[in-house]
Amino acid sequence: MKNFAWPLLAACLICAAPIAALAEEEAPFPFEMAPEGNILDEPEKEAVPPKLESLLSLEMRVALIRSASTAEITGGGNLLITSAESGARLNTGDVRSIKVRRDPHGIRINSFVFPLTSIRVESPDGVIAINGKRYRGYFVLWDNGKGTFDLVNHVMLEDYLRSVVAAEMPKAWPVEALKAQAVAARTYALFRRQEMNENYFDLETNVMDQVYGGVANEDPRTDEAVSGTAGMILLYKNQIARTFFHANCGDRTEDGVEVFHKVNTPYLKSVPCEYGKKSPYYTWQLSIRMNEIEAALSRAGLHRGKIDSLSAQNHTRTGRVKTLGLRNGRNLTSVNAIDFRLAVGPARLKSTRFTIHKQGTLIMFKGTGYGHGVGLCQWGAMGMADAGRTFREILGKYYPGATVASNVLASVPE
Ligand SMILES: [Zn+2]
Repeated sequence: MKNFAWPLLAACLICAAPIAALAEEEAPFPFEMAPEGNILDEPEKEAVPPKLESLLSLEMRVALIRSASTAEITGGGNLLITSAESGARLNTGDVRSIKVRRDPHGIRINSFVFPLTSIRVESPDGVIAINGKRYRGYFVLWDNGKGTFDLVNHVMLEDYLRSVVAAEMPKAWPVEALKAQAVAARTYALFRRQEMNENYFDLETNVMDQVYGGVANEDPRTDEAVSGTAGMILLYKNQIARTFFHANCGDRTEDGVEVFHKVNTPYLKSVPCEYGKKSPYYTWQLSIRMNEIEAALSRAGLHRGKIDSLSAQNHTRTGRVKTLGLRNGRNLTSVNAIDFRLAVGPARLKSTRFTIHKQGTLIMFKGTGYGHGVGLCQWGAMGMADAGRTFREILGKYYPGATVASNVLASVPE
């Protein structure tokens, strides 16, 4: 660690001109070019054996923002900024807010450049704001080697879920439905973590991952659902279950294998659902012009050119459209219905369980349900909870054969 101050100073000299320019327009940075004695000693690095950690103390690494060129980071108290690699402290003065940018020579914090590929930023109150949005835990910024950096939120699994459950299900819903959602979301997070296999994060915030909005989403009711099921997950044959969920299935969930092709497991088989009728999406209609459909399919690279008519070619055994036939004169092209739905817009064409009707210049889809239909039906969970069922009964219905396990240990990668 003794040499740490030197490369740091050298990098600042290299960037002397832009730093001086920036220094005029930005608030002064309360970092000192710390004399060596002020830099914390690098922690001893030892070979750490693989350890087993309770889910209650498991930290998730959520890649919150990918490919950022700048970020504003604010703490509730003075920030502690360290090298994520060595643990060496980078700031010695009081600082509550910093502006971080990628720099050709490392990571720029306000007007100082540190020749590092990753830095860790934490606040004594355990909450950090990124561009004004507050998150629990702390952040590590990684230079991703593509001229930008990735912001990774290190957050305890149970804290992560407080935000996720509140974003995935209405907070006013019965607590047993919220608890079923909490167990499904906890299990899903672990399954994605196991699947992701990335170096410095476990989850992203893209469409395959769960909605995560930080502290602003949290609510006492969803907190209760998370703490009331703390550490509980669904297992099938001692493996973490793939707990897909969706808004409303209509009256029957979909077979997992129809949507996620490699997922042919007993607990994701279709089950009848008689509880979701209160959903505003139980039935829906969408009227759309053919030229809009043509444009959407073209954008998605699914079909080019005019379409004279479209029809359902075949169905899954639960009545959802599997492939659509697009006719243009004598040509007939088949398009996968799930791809078609994503191209048109999954919030407009709410499911693949629809019939097609021509209505003048418009095509009308009459459908039922919202989402892919696999696994837990959220409106069904709400209906079951309203009817006095427990979260265990709800999970047992939508993931038949999977079991709720608690106090499970997760192996933590070194
Ligand atoms: Zn349902």
